[in-house]
Amino acid sequence: MTAEELHTDGNAIAGLLMELFGREATEVDRACQSCRRHFAIGEHMLYESAGYVLRCPGCGDLAACIAVLPGQHAVRLYGTWSLPRAG
Ligand SMILES: [Zn+2]
Repeated sequence: MTAEELHTDGNAIAGLLMELFGREATEVDRACQSCRRHFAIGEHMLYESAGYVLRCPGCGDLAACIAVLPGQHAVRLYGTWSLPRAG
């Protein structure tokens, strides 16, 4: 695989999401800020370059940008991520 345009899906970063949110997050629901549709994070299109970009499977708009930096992750989220509360 050499083409940067090839994408996988959110399930490919299940481990990274687990690290960011402290829970399994591929089943987490996200409401898109653009098309208003709901999709599980695992269904989102994943693009990898210097970091990770998740895009809405419904309209292609941004869902998340995750940059992996020395000692930290810089995370920008878009839309509404519905994270279940513990307990
Ligand atoms: Zn959308």
